[in-house]
Amino acid sequence: MNNFFTSLANKAHDFFFPTFDQAELTPLQIRATTLAFYSIIISSIVAAPINIYRDFVAGNMVIVVATTLYLVLILLGFTLILFKRSLDLVRLCFVMAVISLMVGLIVDFGGTRGFGFFYFLAGYSVFYYVIGFKGAILIPVLFFGGFLIRSRFGGLNPLSVLNDPEARTSFLIVSGVASVLGVFSVLYQHIVVGSLYKAAYVDELTGLPNRRKVEQVLAQKLQKSQTHGSGFSVMGIKLTHFSRINSCQGSRFADEILARVGARLGELCGRDDFVARYSGTVFLIITDSTELAELVKAGNKALASARESIVLDGQAIALEAGLTITRFPNDCQDLETLLSNIQTGFARMREQHGMVSFYDEERHHAEMERYSMIEELRQAIPRGEFSLVYQPKLRLDDGMMSGAELLIRWKNARFGNVPPSVFIPLAEESGLILDISRWVVLTGFAAIQSVQAAGAKTVHAINLSPKDLSDPGFVVFLKELLVACPINTSQVEFEITEGVLIDGNPVTQQTLDFIREAGFRLALDDFGTGYSSLSYLHQLRADNLKIDRGFIMQLSESNPNPPVVDAIISLAMSLGLDITAEGVETAFQQTYLSARGCTFGQGYLYAMPLSQDEYVLLLKGNGRLRE
Ligand code: C2E
Ligand code: CA
Ligand code: CA
Repeated sequence: MNNFFTSLANKAHDFFFPTFDQAELTPLQIRATTLAFYSIIISSIVAAPINIYRDFVAGNMVIVVATTLYLVLILLGFTLILFKRSLDLVRLCFVMAVISLMVGLIVDFGGTRGFGFFYFLAGYSVFYYVIGFKGAILIPVLFFGGFLIRSRFGGLNPLSVLNDPEARTSFLIVSGVASVLGVFSVLYQHIVVGSLYKAAYVDELTGLPNRRKVEQVLAQKLQKSQTHGSGFSVMGIKLTHFSRINSCQGSRFADEILARVGARLGELCGRDDFVARYSGTVFLIITDSTELAELVKAGNKALASARESIVLDGQAIALEAGLTITRFPNDCQDLETLLSNIQTGFARMREQHGMVSFYDEERHHAEMERYSMIEELRQAIPRGEFSLVYQPKLRLDDGMMSGAELLIRWKNARFGNVPPSVFIPLAEESGLILDISRWVVLTGFAAIQSVQAAGAKTVHAINLSPKDLSDPGFVVFLKELLVACPINTSQVEFEITEGVLIDGNPVTQQTLDFIREAGFRLALDDFGTGYSSLSYLHQLRADNLKIDRGFIMQLSESNPNPPVVDAIISLAMSLGLDITAEGVETAFQQTYLSARGCTFGQGYLYAMPLSQDEYVLLLKGNGRLRE
């Protein structure tokens, strides 16, 4: 209920206190002029009909017509302000209203009342900005000039007080003084208020509105959008690498460039758009459009204009700029977020160089989460947040456990249990994977050593990332580790993906060579999902080929003969490789795979990834996973 009244009050305030984007006024002036404006409207509505009636009775038809026209135009202007909010149309109405009254008064030479126009001279100078500066200066001049010329001709209304020559002279003197005062009042307001406005809201260098004005306009826009449900967009244009110009050519030069870019952007934008210099090298354009295609078009135009090189003192200066767009209410709900979105957009510009980039809230959040996750990941090893689990593999022909794949787990205070499918890619991107892999290999080797010492003959698989293989330090690390923690390498299998050879990095090849020379086994993980190429397959000389879970998943009673699985199995067989099916979940899949001659199976059908204790317990039993 409370909300309802607040929104109603907001709407009413918005309706009766319109703000014009074009008007260069301080908020106080807007309020004062709006009040003055209402008083003129109300007094006109009260006084004009009475005057019309009196002049009609007296037979002053010129004044009757002029005053009626004045009243109609004033009311029209008032309606336009409330419903159209166009300062141009309102200005036209008021100028015409004033002129019609002026013409009437001059023709009638003061009318029956003679001094009727004084009230009006005093009033209009208050809201001169509605009429416009030139109009406000011209009106008293024309008024007085009109009276002066008129006084040369006779034929006054017989009822007019001005038939008396003395009264006429004093009338001319008074109206002359009033006109001069009117001109001064307007000039004074224009100069004083204008310079106050400039000092507060105009950027000295470019002549564009400054940051303070931007914030004021944005606040108005936000309020308007919230009450009317409309939207708008803000484009931020930033000149990049500008410090280079500042340091090489000097600040005077740099200032001149900023001024020119500001002028270019100002010219480019339509009257309905608002262009401002927000800070040092940042310009903002506020536009009512929220249409993506339209914004991209306008954005590209603005960007092209900002980037156009500038010739100064015979030197051509190349400019670099980026642009980011934020839409309201699509990307933000308040002023603060809107401005911070622009900053984020600029930060992202470095990645998407030279493109119009959109600020997009979801993406922003995802990115922030990503950054903080990487930060947490950095601490994971010292904080001891990683652990290893063991997922058993079994020989399909006799159901005996043949070994296990070591899988990493991350338990973090802030993010909880994060699956490796989420953090491994982040680790690869940030380079943290090298440390993480070493932790896995080190911890894995220690565990393998203890189970081997207990007499287990199983093969343990460890996943490596392509980054590990292309890291020259990895071989050194492995060599040292083998000295410190000697194990039977033939019972350790490194799982790598097919893509490792794609970039032709010689280090990768050397690492693979070392792994084989040292006697480790090599498995091709996720086979069939990547760049399956026979030549790579050959070059890698793997021992084991792991059919990706995705293919095994397709195997079901309703799809008993998926061609790809058969093709992979016969390919591996022809190359003499072991075959491991990943993700075996159903008895049907198991029967099918074992009938085709698939060597090993791994999946929830047999066991979930187990803790080390559970795994050792299983090893100590008969190691049979299937009856
Ligand atoms: P991957 O190497 O293909 O590992 C097998 C994934 O499939 C594991 O997920 C495992 O828990 C899951 N899985 C096994 N059997 C089944 C099943 O029957 N059904 C289903 N739905 N899933 C099954 P996990 O542990 O989440 O690992 C995901 C991926 O993360 C791994 O895929 C691997 O690429 C990567 N990863 C895990 N640990 C390490 C590591 O220590 N180092 C590196 N570099 N990558 C790792
Ligand atoms: Ca794997
Ligand atoms: Ca896999």
